[in-house]
Amino acid sequence: MTRPPNDPPPFDNPTLVAARADLVRELRRFLPEDAVLIHEEEVRPYECDGLSAYRQLPLLVVLPRTVEEVQRVLRLCHARGVPVVARGAGTGLSGGALPAPDGVLLSLARFTRILDVDPLARTARVQPGVRNLAISEAVRPHGLYYAPDPSSQIACTIGGNVAENSGGVHCLKYGLTVHNVLAIRIVTMDGEILELGGQALDSPGYDLLALFIGSEGLLGVTVEVTVRLLPIPERAQALLAAYDDVTTAAQAVGDIIAAGFIPAGLEMMDGPAIQAAEDFVHAGYPTDAAAILLCELDGTNREVSEQLAAVRDLLLAGGATEVRTARDEAERQRFWQGRKAAFPAIGRCSPDYYCMDGTIPRRRLPEVLRRTAELSDEYGLRVANVFHAGDGNMHPLILYDANQPDELARAEELGGRILELCVAVGGTITGEHGVGIEKLPQMCVQFSPEELSQFAAIKTAFDPEGLLNPGKGIPTPRRCSEYRQLPNRPSPVSSPAP
Ligand SMILES: Cc1cc2nc3c(=O)[nH]c(=O)nc-3n(C[C@H](O)[C@H](O)[C@H](O)COP(=O)(O)OP(=O)(O)OC[C@H]3O[C@@H](n4cnc5c(N)ncnc54)[C@H](O)[C@@H]3O)c2cc1C
Repeated sequence: MTRPPNDPPPFDNPTLVAARADLVRELRRFLPEDAVLIHEEEVRPYECDGLSAYRQLPLLVVLPRTVEEVQRVLRLCHARGVPVVARGAGTGLSGGALPAPDGVLLSLARFTRILDVDPLARTARVQPGVRNLAISEAVRPHGLYYAPDPSSQIACTIGGNVAENSGGVHCLKYGLTVHNVLAIRIVTMDGEILELGGQALDSPGYDLLALFIGSEGLLGVTVEVTVRLLPIPERAQALLAAYDDVTTAAQAVGDIIAAGFIPAGLEMMDGPAIQAAEDFVHAGYPTDAAAILLCELDGTNREVSEQLAAVRDLLLAGGATEVRTARDEAERQRFWQGRKAAFPAIGRCSPDYYCMDGTIPRRRLPEVLRRTAELSDEYGLRVANVFHAGDGNMHPLILYDANQPDELARAEELGGRILELCVAVGGTITGEHGVGIEKLPQMCVQFSPEELSQFAAIKTAFDPEGLLNPGKGIPTPRRCSEYRQLPNRPSPVSSPAP
């Protein structure tokens, strides 16, 4: 990844300081004092998202409370040609919410209301700053929940989930954000309100809702989301299978699906991830295992009992050294607590880590894990794997130390090669974390120049001046031709994919 220009903070740049003073004057005509942050110490917390190697102070931060205020902010910025970057909780891992140095950071943090729950229709209408987990907590009294559950669900917002088309443990069975959102309300860069989707399963015309979900804040600002809710299953049961080698565990993932089971979750952790999670949350994981699979089955009591026995047999026949069924709800929660805390747990083992996100066809898991281990040795950087195995959504976590000269650059190069390996085996460079600034070079590998120009045309249709989240998601043709011509660009695969 090419580093963004290391612009001096706007506070040192006389042109930007003047532009900001003018903008602040206009913003304060309709926003209260506490909704416009301009001092360095106030805007510093917004300088990065979860990809914290990249930092940039914004010109200023606005925290509107109403849709009308969002419209007015966008109209003003549109009229003055000022870039705008929307932000939810800032947990994104691809730099999507990295501010523009000459732009406004538009935080949706004050849009935290659940507007309406309809238990009969099984829907909830929520504001974009509502935390993912808060939706399930709010609808639990109705026996309902919101299925997509990113591991960051305690903090990340539904607006961010829509922008990234986020996934989670339960997405194997219940689908990603795009499959669980019925409608959204957005404000375009020129302040117009658009309603996309509706209460019915289909709507006439092009499916702009699907186009918008996963568009990483490039097309509009989400100000309301209607989500689909599901009944809490009668029973959920988790199995933990241990393996003495990673390849056997990876093969078991395909075996389960091939046998006709769609678990509610099917996650894999390798040795370093198991050890880190166990040290951190004491989930009861077998720390001598080379890999574990966590498999959750849900449904009616009878369905779950039948599937449990069959999946258990399958896992043992497929080479598991041990299969444990969670004895009670507390143990089931502990199994998942270890998985959900795995990223911060890895963070305790290394000064820094870089989380990759690529998706591959499930059957290619064994070879991609093998090749990732070889690349890890080649680069002299440890890699831990903890991921949505059932979806083929890999999350290699590259451990590095930013204080060591060159380690970040090496970690990024290694990450890039893993992503290109995903493309080479028929997969994609992102499963759920988006492209942001992180994966711009690999977009040039995944897509042809013609495809990329179609993406740019869609962006232009919504935002002709290119003011919303500029420089993210879609690489310029020039950048791609430079990247493709890099001398000695290493091949990601040792042998061509069959
Ligand atoms: C520990 C950890 C675990 C994670 N696990 C998962 C996981 O299991 N699955 C997964 O999918 N992701 C995961 N993530 C990544 C991240 O949490 C998701 O991408 C999440 O959806 C980001 O939400 P956010 O509110 O933090 O958005 P932000 O980081 O604030 O923004 C993300 C993008 O959305 C845009 N955006 C935000 N709000 C709006 C809005 N209202 N309108 C328009 N654009 C908007 C921003 O401009 C940016 O491009 C994880 C992150 C961490 C740190």
